[in-house]
Amino acid sequence: MSNAIYNLSRPENDAIRSYLPGSPERAQLQEELKKQVAQVVKIPLIINGQEVWTEKTISVTMPHDHGHVIAQCCMAGEKELRMAIDSALAAKDAWEATPWEHRAGLFLKVAQMLSGPYRKVLTASTMLGQSKTAYQAEIDIAELADFLRFGVWSAQEIFKDQPASASGMWNRQDYRPLDGFICAISPFNFTSIGGNLPTAPVIVGNVALWKPSSTAVLSNYYYMKLLQQCGLPAGVINFVPCSGRDMSQYVVSHPKMAGFHFTGSTGVFQSVWRQVGENIASYTNYPRLVGETGGKDFLFAHSSADLEPLAAAIVRGAFEYQGQKCSACSRAYIPASLWPALEPRLKELTAQLKVGDVQEFDTFMGAVIDKSSFQTCKGFLDRAAASPLCQFVTGGTCDDSKGWFVQPTIIRCMTPDYESMVEEIFGPIISIYVYDDDKLEETLEICNSSPYALSGCIFAQDRQAIVRMERALRNASGNFYINDKCTGAVVGQQPFGGARASGTNDKAGSSLNMIRWLSAHVVKEEFCPSTDVTYPYMVQP
Ligand code: NAD
Repeated sequence: MSNAIYNLSRPENDAIRSYLPGSPERAQLQEELKKQVAQVVKIPLIINGQEVWTEKTISVTMPHDHGHVIAQCCMAGEKELRMAIDSALAAKDAWEATPWEHRAGLFLKVAQMLSGPYRKVLTASTMLGQSKTAYQAEIDIAELADFLRFGVWSAQEIFKDQPASASGMWNRQDYRPLDGFICAISPFNFTSIGGNLPTAPVIVGNVALWKPSSTAVLSNYYYMKLLQQCGLPAGVINFVPCSGRDMSQYVVSHPKMAGFHFTGSTGVFQSVWRQVGENIASYTNYPRLVGETGGKDFLFAHSSADLEPLAAAIVRGAFEYQGQKCSACSRAYIPASLWPALEPRLKELTAQLKVGDVQEFDTFMGAVIDKSSFQTCKGFLDRAAASPLCQFVTGGTCDDSKGWFVQPTIIRCMTPDYESMVEEIFGPIISIYVYDDDKLEETLEICNSSPYALSGCIFAQDRQAIVRMERALRNASGNFYINDKCTGAVVGQQPFGGARASGTNDKAGSSLNMIRWLSAHVVKEEFCPSTDVTYPYMVQP
């Protein structure tokens, strides 16, 4: 209806700032950090464009200094969630009818603000609230800008795809938003994912409710404010921090929920899928379920691998952002012939990493996100310390006296099915299994037997070995790297997502994702309609 094509060119990825000593961006960020750390931000719900204040609130603290409160956030209950659904549905017609170029223009403007004046606000709040270093927060916010620009461009490319028309008629495909609202539930670990989950469907004309993670709510709130500042109409996205249970009970089961956009753990997505199944007869449409979920991302080395890049990939892949990237490397398979040289190198590299306050720019790792994550990591460390099947190569300790700090840990496991080799931990702990060089095929099979299939990488110089490994691991991940670490996917370059228990593999930020929020309506117009009823073959000879 309003999806005119404007030939917007393919976007460039947002430029990454380096925050070198003496640079203007470093000075601006430090000033912003100083300001934000001294505040306690009061966060309301935002429903129908209005701030809504509730009695029930939660305190938001910094993971690396858990006694320090940086925000108080209102929590929605049944009443507010119902208001948010009503507001989204009321906003739907006008938003859907807003010409495509104006929806696109709005989100390109938001992206530009993220690349410019608003960058420091989002970067600082992501650092403080989610314990990211300046660089990790920087790539997170750059990714959010990328999601917006590539989202707009992907939508345009989808709209261009039109059916053929025979002479005398015109067939066209109208890409409608879904008939209902979108429920977006986001995780703590990327501000970019938080922002993208409600925004991607909204770019193509949908309306949404957005439940951010309570441990990422500060940065997510600033993004919501930015959307409003850039002119997002009231009710198009309703910001409703609340408990997962309330969201499931009052929103997921609503007959007008047309799409569910989720990133988080496998268990939560499966519980929502189950709930949707149980309610299936009550929905107006079959809801589109898109979920990027858990992982147990791997590194697999061949005996021909180069040692230095292999060691660096293990350390960066496992420990950047405390192992809390969805793509973080958390198991590795190393041939016995490489281990004697690799082990001391891993110890050396890990010893260089400073763990601490992310406001100090020489920090490599902050704290894990919260007490529950700390306890999960501690449980794995305590059990590994007591197990005859494990030995610590490095790390193995943690300390929660000031922040939720877990030291970067490498565990050598004597069996490939030891719990830390197979279960998701989501912390700075990597497990390594050293295999006999002549057991390559068997070990590839073990690697491939994981229930997860998100990200993975191989290291080898021998080209035939690369071919064999790629073939054996084809279904073991959605994103696969050859001689590179398994983290760091860039929007538009390595569209990200996994299969098996890791998700529906709808590749965030790409047209594969955007198309899930559209429902095609095919229109045929006949220019000179036929008046015949009988067909020529019916004429008697
Ligand atoms: P989580 O599943 O604990 O929480 C995600 C969101 O779901 C939060 O907003 C949470 O409040 C909400 N939630 C919790 N219980 C709920 C329920 N019963 N009903 C509805 N919503 C509920 O995940 P997390 O700790 O925020 O993030 C870490 C997890 O996310 C890891 O498993 C990680 O692998 C995964 N992850 C995956 C990807 C990917 O691309 N595959 C990306 C990022 C994170």
